[in-house]
Amino acid sequence: PALLGVLGGGQLGRMFVHAAQSLGYETVVLDPDPASPAGMVSHRQIVANYDDPSALAELHASAHAITTEFENVPAEALASLALQRPVAPAAEAVAIAQDRVREKAHFVRSAQSSGVAPAPYAVIDSEEDLSKVPEDLLPGILKTARLGYDGKGQARVSSRQELAAAWRAAGSVTCVLEKLLPLALECSVIVARGRDGQVASLPVQRNLHRNGILAVTEVYEGSLPEDLASRAQQATRQIANDLQYVGVLCVEFFVLQDGSLVVNEMAPRPHNSGHYSVDACDCSQFELQVRALTGLPLPAPRQHSATIMLNLLGDLWFDASGNSRTLPWEQVLAIEGAHLHLYGKLEARHGRKMGHLTMTGASAADVRASALQAAALLGMEAF
Ligand code: ATP
Ligand code: MG
Ligand code: MG
Repeated sequence: PALLGVLGGGQLGRMFVHAAQSLGYETVVLDPDPASPAGMVSHRQIVANYDDPSALAELHASAHAITTEFENVPAEALASLALQRPVAPAAEAVAIAQDRVREKAHFVRSAQSSGVAPAPYAVIDSEEDLSKVPEDLLPGILKTARLGYDGKGQARVSSRQELAAAWRAAGSVTCVLEKLLPLALECSVIVARGRDGQVASLPVQRNLHRNGILAVTEVYEGSLPEDLASRAQQATRQIANDLQYVGVLCVEFFVLQDGSLVVNEMAPRPHNSGHYSVDACDCSQFELQVRALTGLPLPAPRQHSATIMLNLLGDLWFDASGNSRTLPWEQVLAIEGAHLHLYGKLEARHGRKMGHLTMTGASAADVRASALQAAALLGMEAF
């Protein structure tokens, strides 16, 4: 069978491997960790850094096509692999998504067609930029241009002094200052785009973040106003088309209290908010990733169940006094429609994504009841 390569061995890579195997492919995972979640379930793994020349040579010698599960792989690594093998997404798209300055510029461009713009922002690259920041961007959120995730690398600032201090504390690296917006809710859209430009879209996810980390995703009839969902899907298609994107792309949006839609950021890969598609749709975001990579057809996925996904962070593995505790999986799995996904990470840490629990049901009311029951059993906050 053909061998598919994936850069990155996290849980997204693990679920890509599962989907690839189902479709009859073998896989090779490149990750520096010998016990990575994806490496452990893959036919082959290469244990090395993403920019290691001999690892990349081994990867393109063995893999027929290559994808990534991690947006911070060096874009040059993807570009060099693409000289020999099909690579999706392309290095250029990943380079844009991994740099908030380029990402926002792309969103501004796509907004000319979609009408959905990013939050007002300024690029901060020097002391001089600090002094030129317009007053109406404050209070704001300072975000490092590169490498932030789960709210890391971000600081809320309400005055010029706080802004200057936060920028210096971030190491005076290139940052983006965004105006702090009054959010009513957050949502995200996942699309898969093929080399022929065909686009398949998953239903729109409604997301709840806690401490900058995704906590809950809900997708069912009525979880979002329909006009809002279709505007978000339209904007996502526009963003993907304007990038000539190939692969799975997730775009995050804010919905403001006045109902307007603002584009936040994108991930050039499957996304935590799309995990529900494994259990609630007839084609998951990971199957879409395999299909887009290998040039298989991209039928429109159909959602067959109302669903709520609960992220299982490492915090759950500790009790109030910090001792490790056993989680009541038997009770959780006794609830109808409970689908447990643990990523095989050896050590639980606060804020670390250890797994997720997807609840499926026949209706919004059913799935909300069962998800709240599961959350209570696990000691998670209600939503
Ligand atoms: P991810 O793990 O999704 O990549 P990240 O670290 O890149 O996260 P963002 O998505 O930029 O961070 O922001 C994290 C969360 O912080 C958002 O989902 C939202 O709840 C809040 N947030 C970010 N920017 C703004 C803003 N301009 N106004 C209000 N809230 C914001
Ligand atoms: Mg991000
Ligand atoms: Mg985000």
